[in-house]
Amino acid sequence: MGFVDRVLRPEDVRVAARNLRELTAKSPTFLPAHLRLALKVGATTSLLAPGLTIPAARRLLRRMVSHLLIDASDVELAKMIAKIKRRGARLNINLLGEAVLGDKEAKGRIEGTENLLMRDDVDYVSIKVSSAVAPHAPLAFDQAVEHIQASLLPLFRLAAESTTPKFINLDMEEYRDLDLTTAVFTELLDREDLLHLEAGIVLQAYLPDALGAMIRLQNWAAARRSRGGAAIKVRLVKGANLPMERVEASLHGWPLATWDTKQETDTNYKRVLNYALTTERVANVRIGVAGHNLFDIAYAWTLAGRRGVRHGVEFEMLLGMAEGQARAVAETVGPLLLYVPAVHPRDFDVAIAHLVRRLQEGASPDNFISAVFDLHDSPALYERERSRFVASPAGLDDTVPAPNRTQDRREIARLDQQIRLDIVPTSFDNTPDTDPSLAGNRLWSQAITERIASSTLGDDLVAAHTITERSVLEATIRDTLAAGASWAELGARGRAKILRRAAIIFAQRRGELLEAMASECAKRWTRAIPKCQKLSISSTTTPVRPRS
Ligand SMILES: Cc1cc2nc3c(=O)[nH]c(=O)nc-3n(C[C@H](O)[C@H](O)[C@H](O)COP(=O)(O)OP(=O)(O)OC[C@H]3O[C@@H](n4cnc5c(N)ncnc54)[C@H](O)[C@@H]3O)c2cc1C
Repeated sequence: MGFVDRVLRPEDVRVAARNLRELTAKSPTFLPAHLRLALKVGATTSLLAPGLTIPAARRLLRRMVSHLLIDASDVELAKMIAKIKRRGARLNINLLGEAVLGDKEAKGRIEGTENLLMRDDVDYVSIKVSSAVAPHAPLAFDQAVEHIQASLLPLFRLAAESTTPKFINLDMEEYRDLDLTTAVFTELLDREDLLHLEAGIVLQAYLPDALGAMIRLQNWAAARRSRGGAAIKVRLVKGANLPMERVEASLHGWPLATWDTKQETDTNYKRVLNYALTTERVANVRIGVAGHNLFDIAYAWTLAGRRGVRHGVEFEMLLGMAEGQARAVAETVGPLLLYVPAVHPRDFDVAIAHLVRRLQEGASPDNFISAVFDLHDSPALYERERSRFVASPAGLDDTVPAPNRTQDRREIARLDQQIRLDIVPTSFDNTPDTDPSLAGNRLWSQAITERIASSTLGDDLVAAHTITERSVLEATIRDTLAAGASWAELGARGRAKILRRAAIIFAQRRGELLEAMASECAKRWTRAIPKCQKLSISSTTTPVRPRS
């Protein structure tokens, strides 16, 4: 990682050269002797000729990871595609690139993927919705769906109009992309001009939401087929963004979107397979079994065999991961579909996220891949994976798991039950942020947005509380002063109770507060929501240690 951050990334080769020398001095012992020697030579020559040494060092790193991703520049790409195809695999290419922060990058990524799909030697590409457009306001769901569809439409049209079959898959990344990707996918494929196109989407079994999402896709695909449309494909994975989901949940005070344990994820993977692998269902939704866990691959292969639906299942792996095992699997299941990240040398540093993820998967004992090379020789590791596998179907049942994230700002009545006024909190918990991934919250915000232009909420409130007569004003001041004394007499516990009650009211009136802030002060949504959060946080959860 140090090499990537400090030698690969700096634009100035002299900065990179200085970093290279510093890193080499620490002599990373995990590297083989010949690479340590190469680093030492590089560090010495970088003093005199950084302009030669650093590009050479960068080329070396690219070569070291060239089994995991391929060079997207035209000439190299053709060679690599031909090489992988000679091994008997099919390729699903994903063009990596700069994080999409604006329209220019989004356009570049779409054009790059279009160029890939236009090639004669490419028939399958993957892209995620977050790289199709610039980041959008999280609550502006419908606008985002429309925008992403417009951006992806030329790509889908290209596939639909191609004389040879071309396949586009929408990858899945974070939980917040689940509804968005599904909406973009189904709305695009509902278009008459795309009715005959078969395309794919990904579901992540580490989300309890996966089976519900699969059922919805199945029902939708059946309806599309009954209109004469093509089937679709769902790639079933376990999910690669667990650390990110954990960070997101802790930052916003939301429940973790994923299952808590690996075993629950493994069970859910089988739950979705069990649902999906029937003759009737694979006719509408083919399944991509994507992963490296040999037990699960064997399970899926056996289940599909018993149910006579092997024609509806495709096995997918990542390029360069456990290649010996991949070859062995291919001998039984037939040609694999290999997921192949492609990156232009000038963008190589953006491939790091992909490489780090692979590294992390290989290093975590929770993951099968961490044992894959020693499974044969280590009875302990074999037993670890065997017992995980044996345990996972134990939790299988017919239920459709409910999502972990259920916040709905429309359910204001529930707030009264959630906060017990008779219990004084002894610890601090933030009020959770509004979760834009959830449909209920999006509808709630949409309803507020619609009221803003003609809102008179603030005016009405001011009118109702404006004091025009001197006598009323004086009485109000007198009452307020008197209330100050009784407020002090309440003691900490009594005051806490009232403040917490006030917080509940603030939280219940969150929508109205937002409406007034936006209509009167033109407060932007993203600025107004945190303000409301603060109002309800400060009184619901401030730790109160009663003194009386
Ligand atoms: C061809 C291909 C395409 C892929 N595309 C995508 C994609 O579009 N989106 C995506 O997110 N991933 C994708 N992945 C990655 C995939 O989600 C898994 O991360 C990876 O395959 C490892 O899972 P496994 O079944 O091979 O191994 P296993 O070792 O059996 O499973 C590891 C997985 O278990 C889950 N897990 C581990 N610990 C815990 C825990 N404590 N709690 C809950 N769950 C846990 C995680 O999902 C972890 O990745 C893809 C993988 C392949 C092979």
